Amino acid sequence: MSFSNDLLTWYDRCARVLPWRGERDPYRIWLSEIMLQQTQAETVKGYYAHFLVTFPDVMALARADEQDVLKLWEGLGYYSRARNLHAAARIVAFELGGAFPPNAEGLLRLPGIGPYAANAIASIAYGEPVPALDGNQARVLSRLLAWEPVIKTPFDLLSPALALMSLDRPGDYNQALMDLGAGICTPKGPRCEACPVSSHCSAHAEDAVLEYPHKPAPATKKEQGLTILLMAMNDKLLVRQRPKGQLGGLYEFVAVEGHFDDEAALSAALSARGFRGVRLIRPLPDAKHVFTHLVWRMWGWLAECDGAPEGFIAVNSAQLNALPFPSALRVYREIAEGLKKGGKF
Ligand code: SF4
Repeated sequence: MSFSNDLLTWYDRCARVLPWRGERDPYRIWLSEIMLQQTQAETVKGYYAHFLVTFPDVMALARADEQDVLKLWEGLGYYSRARNLHAAARIVAFELGGAFPPNAEGLLRLPGIGPYAANAIASIAYGEPVPALDGNQARVLSRLLAWEPVIKTPFDLLSPALALMSLDRPGDYNQALMDLGAGICTPKGPRCEACPVSSHCSAHAEDAVLEYPHKPAPATKKEQGLTILLMAMNDKLLVRQRPKGQLGGLYEFVAVEGHFDDEAALSAALSARGFRGVRLIRPLPDAKHVFTHLVWRMWGWLAECDGAPEGFIAVNSAQLNALPFPSALRVYREIAEGLKKGGKF
């Protein structure tokens, strides 16, 4: 049997049970594919169900306030996905008459849909024979083919991927490769003995499975230091909305770049930024958050002040609860929750 037949026979027996499986509605497939980028399927399940209750179709999402979309996304990370989802929904609803583009080429023009997502959606929703090449699929294919070149992007494998894929069931074929990559041909511990396509696999035949894929040397991540302050003013907590760019539209606490051993230097830095009458109360725990290309190292302080610069708002506990914050600030958000319970604001 051919590679794709073996793969699909296995898929018909062993496909993962996921809430978006069997869907043909491009809205639901699109939502699942965007949520699954950078996020495990187990985590996505709950968010997906919750999102669909609030926004059951593209019109409902298009009419929503961006703040409400970001709030539902809270905890999933990579918030540009949520902003792009909202922007794309508005295009589909208000410029395309409510219908999604009917092929990968058209889908690619929507914000937040790259070549992988366009191909995944078009193959699953419309049966278009285009490979959903992401890191998982590239890893599996590189092992199957014992692919020697360094893979800079998964689409380096486009031509062998096109040659291998099933033309009869392209959506199932792509999902079968996703399942194989997630459960059997995993990055560090591939289970070749349980693999339905091992008889087609060159790396397995060469007993060199872990040598593939060949990746470029990893880039070192830039590190950014931040002092985060839970700053009270008139028994409320100061927060502000981040401008466009990284984590744009989400809320943050008072933050100053760098680390201050010296309290006087931190007070001076806050005065220079327009905070008046600052009183540092006590240090809070350190935290670290790793983004794709950046690491935040954070040092916390509890403080209060008499005046804040423009852009900051003072919120009570109920207001704080309703605002979307990035996961990167989770530690300080939880401390703020504790202060709230202690009746501090
Ligand atoms: S035989 Fe092993 S390396 Fe080859 S595709 Fe299957 S799990 Fe991956």
